Amino acid sequence: MRKTIIAGNWKMYKTLREGQELVIALRRELYQIEDIDIVVCPPYTLLAYLADALETSNILIGAQDVYWQDEGAFTGEVSPVMLKDIGCKFVIIGHSERRQYFGETNESVNNKLKAALRHNLTPIVCVGETLSQRESGKTFKVLDDHIENGLKDITDIDILKIVIAYEPVWAIGTGKNATPQQAQEAQKYIRDLLRKMYNNDIADTVRIQYGGSVKPENITELMSQPDVDGALVGGASLQIETFAEIVKKAAEVKK
Ligand code: PEP
Repeated sequence: MRKTIIAGNWKMYKTLREGQELVIALRRELYQIEDIDIVVCPPYTLLAYLADALETSNILIGAQDVYWQDEGAFTGEVSPVMLKDIGCKFVIIGHSERRQYFGETNESVNNKLKAALRHNLTPIVCVGETLSQRESGKTFKVLDDHIENGLKDITDIDILKIVIAYEPVWAIGTGKNATPQQAQEAQKYIRDLLRKMYNNDIADTVRIQYGGSVKPENITELMSQPDVDGALVGGASLQIETFAEIVKKAAEVKK
């Protein structure tokens, strides 16, 4: 049985005050939810404050990226040591926006993954195809590439600490989610890749989220798919009503 994980990626939204208001409301709305991981990933500037505000709550905090060195002359970067220090538990790695706009590659994803694991941060590794890749029949090829190279040299022990997020790029921020069948097909494919790279037990244990225009209206059907273990939510995680409803509905499905 895999524990459901719903994570909110706030991207580059929210001032400190707005973030504080949102987490106070989330604590109030979600305090009764048990048995699933609820994660919020605000921008760096809010992390330390919100980690404090969420202490003793059932909501965990994550970052949206990390560098792979522990410290040094790397202007603008944030290290896993720093994230750990302020109470971060999760970190998103390889989000398609970072691949698209900031030159993230499978190699940098792999370095970041290993650095996060070294410091006991749980990585949420994003993989997924663009629209043109899907339309030209390359979806599985892209998944092979992202999984095999992104997870290169990750041990049997460490793979169990990783969460994979299948995020078809064409569904991110577009309002057009993958159908539950499309999500299931890709996520089963990813799980089968893990079967080949590791073994059945490991493949059946690793959690795979779906991400891409998740909303209260589609979460139940997506979560009902056998290989969908949660969601990475962008736009809908910015409003208390929508994120709380997504979490509550997801918790219902797996009860
Ligand atoms: C995301 O940012 O990972 C995401 C899935 O965004 P949205 O839910 O807005 O499509």
